[in-house]
Amino acid sequence: MNSIYIDKYMFWNAFLKALEERVSVHSFNTWFKPLVLHDLSNDVLTVSVPQQYYSSWLEEHYLSLLNSTATNLLGRNILIRFVVSAQENTPEEQQLTDHVTTHESSSSPHHDSLLEELNINPRFTFNTFVVGHSNQFAYAASKAVADAPGLTAFNPLVIYGGVGLGKTHILQAIANSYISSGKASNDRGKIIFVSSEKFTMDFILSIQKNQTAQYSQYYRAANILLVDDIQFFNNKERTQEEFFHIFNDLHQKGKQIVLTMDCPPSHLKGLADRLINRFQWGLVTDIQPPDFETRVAILKKKAENDGVELDNAIADFIASNITANIRELEGSLIRLLAYSSLHGTDISLQMASDILGDTFRKTSRTISIESIQKLISHHFSLSPDLIIGESRRKEVANARHIAMYLCKQLTSSSLKTIGLNFGNRDHSTVIHSIHLVEKKMNSEPAFLKLIQDLTNQTKNAF
Ligand code: ADP
Ligand code: MG
Repeated sequence: MNSIYIDKYMFWNAFLKALEERVSVHSFNTWFKPLVLHDLSNDVLTVSVPQQYYSSWLEEHYLSLLNSTATNLLGRNILIRFVVSAQENTPEEQQLTDHVTTHESSSSPHHDSLLEELNINPRFTFNTFVVGHSNQFAYAASKAVADAPGLTAFNPLVIYGGVGLGKTHILQAIANSYISSGKASNDRGKIIFVSSEKFTMDFILSIQKNQTAQYSQYYRAANILLVDDIQFFNNKERTQEEFFHIFNDLHQKGKQIVLTMDCPPSHLKGLADRLINRFQWGLVTDIQPPDFETRVAILKKKAENDGVELDNAIADFIASNITANIRELEGSLIRLLAYSSLHGTDISLQMASDILGDTFRKTSRTISIESIQKLISHHFSLSPDLIIGESRRKEVANARHIAMYLCKQLTSSSLKTIGLNFGNRDHSTVIHSIHLVEKKMNSEPAFLKLIQDLTNQTKNAF
């Protein structure tokens, strides 16, 4: 199919045309017309946007549309990347954009598929991070290590806290700050940002390819090693061992290590004591849910970054309804901005209440994992213990997969938490179950109907 598109501009025209057919005229003119083709390499379509907020918006609202449209046209899986067009950038942003772009388009042969690409969001900087009581210590320590990696007493620096409170943001801010200071520009290997899941997957791959030595070498060459969400190392003994040796080597050489996790090190489950012990050698600091004032400040700053001044009353309204998760705070604001832009109206308190009121009411009636387990056990006439237990009987496993799928769809619990509530299963088992359900939904209409019914039943029970 891809031979139709002799050159990338032909593809681009077809791409825009397909999008035009799928969205309203207003959305097309607002969000898609200003886009410019930056590059199309094998699997990556790089799109140039006039301003930073376009990419946030497109990522939030249209990423799957963009993905599926490009994938359909080219007949292969396409990743979408955004760059901000050069003339609009501040020097700092330009440096970051350059870095990200060159990095994405150049594949370093000796790292091959084993090794992590620096996957840093240029928007996650110290400048865009709002500081309040809840996070000021983590912020100050992170800035200190970004300025003088390996030279402070904060090594390792460990930041822990709940979901959506800014751990990844602050970790990447360290990377962004280091990169924009120019210190990393000559040798990208010197700073490594990786999620613990990616670290694990790459390690497994390196074992398969007999390349564990190269794998270890790559990490040992880091000047700063940033590892996100350490809790996912749980029960992965060999990965932990590998990480232990890398940690020791880097620490001994005075290289900076920064780690995030969802609980204090001492509460980590399934991690070796010797690792937990080392996590406490430097500084352990937490990020708490933001207080009301910080939530308002975050909302105002986000709006300002998108060129909108947010009325105090509206910021107050959102901040008093969403208290525990900054990602949701952002999500609400983006919905309002999108609505106001698409309808050409200013944001008002009435609009905020109309659009967000439902969401606020829903989040206050939370659906729990336990309630889903009960409902499923009732529906299939199986005891909850069976569903949580070890049985591999087909009907039990089927009910278990469905229950896990619903938990992922209808609660805000992480895969890890879901796994823990299903007889301490690993999060990869949860992912596998969800995939099975999705596959079956795609191929069996009756099954799809069943899932829809169960979803409605669960929702209506609250
Ligand atoms: P976590 O990794 O802790 O789950 P993230 O770092 O992904 O959370 O943060 C979720 C979202 O909230 C991100 O878009 C991030 O930019 C935003 N965010 C979190 N904390 C702050 C903050 N203090 N100031 C501004 N934005 C924040
Ligand atoms: Mg995170």
